[in-house]
Amino acid sequence: MLTGPHRPNSIAVLTSGGDAAGMNAAVRAVVRTGLSAGLDVYLVFEGFQGLVDGGEAIRLATSADVGGILQQGGTVLGTARCKRFRTREGRLAAARNLAANDIDALVVIGGDGSLTGASIFQREWRDLLDELVQAGEVRRSWADAHRHLPLVGMVGSIDNDMFGTDMTIGADTALHRITEAIDAIRSTAASHQRSFVIEVMGRNCGYLALMSALASGANWVLIPESPPDTDDWEDSMCQALEAGRGIGRRQNLVIVAEGAQDRHGNPITAEHVRRVIEEALGEDTRVTNLGHVQRGGSPSAFDRYLSTILGYASVEHLLNAPGDESQLIGIREHQIINSSLEACVAKTHSMGDVIAAHDYDTAMEMRGGSFKESFDIFLTNVRAKPHPPEPGQQRLKLGVLHAGGPAPGMNTAVRVAARIGLDRGHEVVAVGGGFKGLEKGRIHDLHWMSVSGWVSKGGAEIGTSRFVPHGAHIGTIAEQIADHGIDGLIMVGGWAGYEAAHALHASRDAHPELGLPIVCVPASINNNVPGSEISIGADTALNNIVNDVDKIKQSAVASGRVFVVEVMGHDSGYLALMSGLATGAERVYLPEQGVSLEDLRTDIAGLREGFAKGKRLGLVIRSEHVDPVYTTSFIRSLFEREGDHQFDVRQSILGHIQQGGDPSPFDRIQATRLTARGVEFLIEQALSEAPQSAMIGLDRGRIRFTDLATFPELVEPDVHRPLEQTWMDLLPIAEVMAQPGD
Ligand code: ADP
Repeated sequence: MLTGPHRPNSIAVLTSGGDAAGMNAAVRAVVRTGLSAGLDVYLVFEGFQGLVDGGEAIRLATSADVGGILQQGGTVLGTARCKRFRTREGRLAAARNLAANDIDALVVIGGDGSLTGASIFQREWRDLLDELVQAGEVRRSWADAHRHLPLVGMVGSIDNDMFGTDMTIGADTALHRITEAIDAIRSTAASHQRSFVIEVMGRNCGYLALMSALASGANWVLIPESPPDTDDWEDSMCQALEAGRGIGRRQNLVIVAEGAQDRHGNPITAEHVRRVIEEALGEDTRVTNLGHVQRGGSPSAFDRYLSTILGYASVEHLLNAPGDESQLIGIREHQIINSSLEACVAKTHSMGDVIAAHDYDTAMEMRGGSFKESFDIFLTNVRAKPHPPEPGQQRLKLGVLHAGGPAPGMNTAVRVAARIGLDRGHEVVAVGGGFKGLEKGRIHDLHWMSVSGWVSKGGAEIGTSRFVPHGAHIGTIAEQIADHGIDGLIMVGGWAGYEAAHALHASRDAHPELGLPIVCVPASINNNVPGSEISIGADTALNNIVNDVDKIKQSAVASGRVFVVEVMGHDSGYLALMSGLATGAERVYLPEQGVSLEDLRTDIAGLREGFAKGKRLGLVIRSEHVDPVYTTSFIRSLFEREGDHQFDVRQSILGHIQQGGDPSPFDRIQATRLTARGVEFLIEQALSEAPQSAMIGLDRGRIRFTDLATFPELVEPDVHRPLEQTWMDLLPIAEVMAQPGD
């Protein structure tokens, strides 16, 4: 009897092709989700080679087998290039081994090569089984029950070069490695007034080159999708670099993607760029090829999160909708999506053809709106000086200020606000020290070079404060705005900034000067403001937490300990939940849920049971405002007292290191995108008859504006957090992942 696709009882997971940071987190998520659904989960070692070889290369997994791997780079399953899998004979052996282990479904994590192989294998599956049945190697009944091979793929590739997902596993970590390296090169280049040409990976995809250029404030970028417009591009590049020197820039940084080429398809190598610069500018120019450094190291917080949700969704897909066509599980606009694996592979391959045919408009279009937008913003930011104002153009005076706690990425945002405002022919002024500074008239001009180097600088150079004006303060601020002739304000900050901006906006009837447009750009590590699913600074804070918790875990495992780690977040549990997911915490205490004595009892019982069975470390993350009585030190004492001497307990309050450090690439990119659009909007409004004020933000990855007047309606009445918190949907995933074994 033939059956259609059925709910699998057993699945196998493998990693293949080039390794990518986050593959381990994906394997862990597949195993734990599979086990919690009652499946047998098999680990296949060494990629398709393990599938072809069978035997010891295919092993039944336990939850503990994937413990402690979340923070490791590369893949613990190993990966190999397997020539035999490219042949039918090799794939026949693979099918034989799946049947021999009674495996019903397959999860493949790899790049486009691996997913192409997977797609071919799935298509051939029925034929392969028929052949094995005829050869007497597989029972007819097994073959009949397995006419389809449910198969899902996840893209593990640092290049971010695959269709079917906005981000591939490993790309964010690679961006971290590249921007760290460029930041380091920048300081040496500036010391010696040198030029550096940096080659980054990406054969058909300029994602890493473009985003790292944007995130590091590089001065020129060469990517495969958008070659230089003209044949004398070398002259234009050198003129731009020379102009930068003319206005006092101490370093020149040029990023070249591995696959960069000119309009005619001739490769542009880093060495060629070096020679051209050295000859034209007559200055010492060096090439750095970042090579395999880009692949290495511990996965970033985002890659751990992405891999975890994709791994979870892959198994859910196999359980609920196995279908007879293989699927690629990815994210689009921050939502999990699945698409035909075959179609994604075909579209990815066609990108190579489009570039080979020199059809660059199509190539840029295929990459999507935010890629093109990022390229345009890059082009404005790298100019050595602004475009001159148009004749007769109205010159506005735009003010930029911060409010709320410092958030990494604030300086990046001010740099962009200044550069875009000046480039459009307007004046830009900085208000020092938030709304308090505005009241006191602490206002100074920003010039093109006053913000040089700010893209990567942590902290908030112009200063911030938590002051929210009320009563007479509002009138004084209105006078200052009038005295300084400010036509629009861009507030880059957190909760206090939103409250302050709203207070001014709401007072415009009493003070007509306050009728100016105000744009709020979300910048808060707490990620607790309305109008945006993510705020600038939260990703850096998350990476800071993750780095520290990794170290804490190492010390805990050495001594059989439970750690209670307290993270920031004010009334929002975002940092706690996301860091819990990214570090493998077994429990997170969130202000949205609170914590009861009953919860604490259950958690102690769970810890005692785990340690009795050989568990070596425990990790609990507590958000700072979860409960006024059950403080971090209370929980620590309680766990220690009730731990029955099975473990000792330590606490760690991470404190202000969470707000510190240079912004992560993601925060730099979002600060750049959001502020650039925010300033455009501000200018448009300032020139209009009835200016609007807005909160700018990301909604499913897209930029959106929300009327500032609606601020009070979008937040909870008594606590500092928005009513809508989409990330709370991740709670069930965190619970599945928190199985013993880490
Ligand atoms: P990546 O997955 O990172 O793109 P590769 O292109 O090296 O890496 O592919 C990894 C493995 O996937 C190969 O060694 C091979 O086993 C398998 N593979 C790649 N392309 C095919 C194909 N066309 N048919 C069958 N297997 C393939």
